[in-house]
Amino acid sequence: MPRTRLAPSPTGALHLGNARTFLINWAIARQHDWQIVLRIDDLDGPRIKRGAEREAVDVLTWLGLDWDEGPFYQSQNRDIYHAALVSLANRGKIYSCTCTRTRIAAAIASAPHREDHELRYPGTCRPSAPKRIELDDEAASWRFLVPAGEQQFRDEFAGDFVEETQLVVGDFRVAGVGATPSYQLAVVVDDAQQNVDRIVRGDDLLSSTPRQKLIRVALGLQPEPQYWHVPLVIGPDGRRLAKRHGDTRLSAYRELDIAPERVIGLLAEWCGCGERREMSAPEFLDVFDIERVPKLPIVMQPGDDDWLTGSSM
Ligand code: GLU
Ligand code: ZN
Repeated sequence: MPRTRLAPSPTGALHLGNARTFLINWAIARQHDWQIVLRIDDLDGPRIKRGAEREAVDVLTWLGLDWDEGPFYQSQNRDIYHAALVSLANRGKIYSCTCTRTRIAAAIASAPHREDHELRYPGTCRPSAPKRIELDDEAASWRFLVPAGEQQFRDEFAGDFVEETQLVVGDFRVAGVGATPSYQLAVVVDDAQQNVDRIVRGDDLLSSTPRQKLIRVALGLQPEPQYWHVPLVIGPDGRRLAKRHGDTRLSAYRELDIAPERVIGLLAEWCGCGERREMSAPEFLDVFDIERVPKLPIVMQPGDDDWLTGSSM
């Protein structure tokens, strides 16, 4: 049976934008009899907010979403990430890097800035040939040797994606100092361990996919997942939905006693299911069709929030 995962990061509260992606993921899964694993991506130490994980589970349940296994916690899987890192080191797929962010920025001062502020690593510490290494430098971070050339994959929603990963991000980090695993490494190891072969997520992660594939292939991990990357919800200013656009946290709507059917009604409209009307999660399953989900980002309008809070009908 195919398997997918809902993977909230407890780095902040779930807002309408995240909720839409989770609802789409859940609905495709339930329509096609995929199993659903709940995984809490709680590895990003300093950014983890206390209680956010409990809240994510609560609001997903409040919306009417469910899952078949989990929650699993990335923070309890550290030994396995470390074993994967050792395996990459043994295979000569990574190398140690002691560059500071400032040094990297200086080396590429003329290069254009990416929106996510990720700098392309210029390869300063790259060895002249791949070699087997030890993870013996506590102060170093660890980078993946990205081959030159195009990386590509077929996305079931977004279509063919091609990127020259070496030119876009260069040798990316698979672990930080003290060999703490990066998101890219952890997600690949988890998906393989949990046998996830269907991944539905926001298209902000489209360009992470080639990196994840490089890691997966280097580790010889199966299965190769199929992907659906769906556009995000943005504010009227064109930026990704966030606090500056008002309080769209699901927990806030719940505290205001707004019916989850209202929230799903709005998300359904944002999924191309026709005019907004109150509906439950099971009703959403009847009307949802991935083919009708808009290919462009959804722009949240001020009136959308009024509809939720009942100040307009
Ligand atoms: N936890 C990640 C997020 O919320 C998703 C990870 C993934 O889908 O690979 O953005
Ligand atoms: Zn370096």
